[in-house]
Amino acid sequence: MVSMDKIVALCKRRGFIYPSSEIYGGIAGFWDYGPLGVELKNNIKREWWKKMIYEREDVVGLDAAIVMNPKVWEASGHVQGFIDPLVECKSCHSRFREDKIIDNICPNCGEKDRFTEPKKFNLLTEVYLGVTEPKAKVYLRGEITQGVFVNFQNIVNSSRVKIPFGIAQIGKAFRNEITPGNFTYRTIEFEQMELEYFIRPDVKEAEETFEYWRQQRIGWYKSLGIRSEFLRFKKHADDERAHYARAAYDIEYKAPFGWSEFEGIHHRGDWDLGRHKLKHKDPETGDEYTPWVIETSGGVDRAALFFLVDAYQEEEKRIVLKIHKRLAPYKVAVFPLLANKSELVDKGKKVYALLKLSFFTAWDDRGNIGKRYFAQDEIGTPFCVTIDYETLKNDTVTVRDRDSMKQERVNIDQLINYLQNKL
Ligand code: ATP
Repeated sequence: MVSMDKIVALCKRRGFIYPSSEIYGGIAGFWDYGPLGVELKNNIKREWWKKMIYEREDVVGLDAAIVMNPKVWEASGHVQGFIDPLVECKSCHSRFREDKIIDNICPNCGEKDRFTEPKKFNLLTEVYLGVTEPKAKVYLRGEITQGVFVNFQNIVNSSRVKIPFGIAQIGKAFRNEITPGNFTYRTIEFEQMELEYFIRPDVKEAEETFEYWRQQRIGWYKSLGIRSEFLRFKKHADDERAHYARAAYDIEYKAPFGWSEFEGIHHRGDWDLGRHKLKHKDPETGDEYTPWVIETSGGVDRAALFFLVDAYQEEEKRIVLKIHKRLAPYKVAVFPLLANKSELVDKGKKVYALLKLSFFTAWDDRGNIGKRYFAQDEIGTPFCVTIDYETLKNDTVTVRDRDSMKQERVNIDQLINYLQNKL
């Protein structure tokens, strides 16, 4: 399996991910997505939105604010219950989350049984608003979910949803993590993609809905190319569940640092709507009840990381990112066979201008053709189009496939069609 060092180096070298504020020494727990990283992340989010909203009839979207009235976090239980147990190693004074320590050994200095008693540590990040003192303390949202619950009534009143239905959202969340680390896996600022699916308070319906979404979500990752044997479910034991959850499963990926959660499926019951004192009146029967909620909560950053890790392959003569075509940052790259022949460059620029209207397209005229293939393989570009002397004679180009490395000659006027079919 690929080492994290190689992934981190590739991300930096090719413009996927950089340390945040790097010129000032960086800041622990924050990362910036470069020109290719932002494309990858946008593609993941677009695929998710398509699957969760556009392909369905029972889910609507939302984009709630990051800062909310702090009463939301009191009602939701986060001020009181959103806590991790913090321990400190008495030898090296490093701090860790107690539940992540294996065999009571300090992950930093290797000393055994040298930890302090666990202290409760709240994960909510505080910020202060206002122009005069005292400023008002508010929180950056610790999960995007609460924006959905506080808008439940608005959405029921302003759209035509009927239970069962879902509200989907993508957005940033913030947590004061004790030990950010493993690259973008655990950060303080991160992005979530979540569905809250509202059902009647019925045990059987809840079980079926839970199972349905469990399968939908793992199926989505597989459909975008993650190897099945690198995916598994992990059931949360009773004492592991968050304060709001009645049942919880994680989808885990077999990362270079071990099996790791990147999406949670939670049965939140009536916890949140109940705490916000919200009820639902069935428009047909007039019954009033507090709906139950099944939640799917994935991390965009963790998904991006695992899509990269899973796609990374070293072959004899190249590094290739065999990432799903729909997630690849560039869909196609265009090269003139020789960069110093103006007739090839001019023709190439025309092909580039044509393709750019339909696909996110790269232009590359550096070095020789072999180096350009190498560079495009490393960032996962599915197709490379080369303009050569034959192009000038008969208006055909070579199209090279990233995975098979096979080349085909295609007429320029067929090129968009050809690529569209393949993509
Ligand atoms: P963990 O046990 O790893 O701290 P969690 O169980 O607290 O995660 P949830 O509250 O279920 O995580 O959040 C849902 C999803 O949000 C996670 O599966 C993950 O993809 C993402 N996520 C949560 N915390 C972080 C973080 N600190 N950095 C990056 N992504 C995160």
